Amino acid sequence: MSFKDLGLSDPILRALKKLDHTKPSEIQLKAIPLILEGKSIMASAQTGSGKTAGFVLPILEQLKSIHAPKSKNINVLILTPTRELASQIQDSVMRYGTFMSKSSAAIFGGAKIFPQKNKLKAGVDILVATPGRLLDLVGQKAVFLDQVKILVLDEADRMLDMGFIPQVKRIVRSTPRKEDRQTLLFSATFSQDIMNLAQQWTFDPITVEIEPERVATENVDQRVYLLESRD
Ligand code: AMP
Repeated sequence: MSFKDLGLSDPILRALKKLDHTKPSEIQLKAIPLILEGKSIMASAQTGSGKTAGFVLPILEQLKSIHAPKSKNINVLILTPTRELASQIQDSVMRYGTFMSKSSAAIFGGAKIFPQKNKLKAGVDILVATPGRLLDLVGQKAVFLDQVKILVLDEADRMLDMGFIPQVKRIVRSTPRKEDRQTLLFSATFSQDIMNLAQQWTFDPITVEIEPERVATENVDQRVYLLESRD
């Protein structure tokens, strides 16, 4: 299966070629067609699996038929727990979207708020944000979330561990009803807490799972010897 077979088209295919991404990874094979169909998903995928491209590529494809946002509005919101992840995801958006004219921005705490507010003025197609700073900007009416078409909750388990869930809940409430938006929830693990949140936040989701990564390479010869404790 190639990226083209999955339903992606020029100019995304051109960007993938330039980046030398020749074959989709497992999570990409499973998630991309579902996302292109407009389904909401709950996906268990770790960093390193290619999950970022797994949601960024089909989002860019869908944006081809979505109008540019109005002032202070956004089409796609990607929530992520840390500023490092936020800037990595925005880098991916820019790389995969090189041959498209869609706008994107990353907003996170610990950086000056004024330039971030300025970026939002014209409206942004894809906004990548950490929860605290985004709520700040929503409170200041620098951005409105009621036109969000696609909501991505990345590393949901880490957002839970870092105590962000109350903020995330408030943000999700500012977006359209779950029946009226597409929600893509990614988490490395699915505890009962995450399952409950996923149920609240996603409408009719499809579960996407991939095989866990091998912990050792096949080049390592492994043997087990059973010994008595005295030995
Ligand atoms: P992620 O799991 O999203 O953090 O991605 C891990 C790394 O894999 C990133 O550096 C991507 O650029 C790279 N990557 C993602 N998808 C592919 C692919 N299909 N082929 C080659 N590299 C990829």
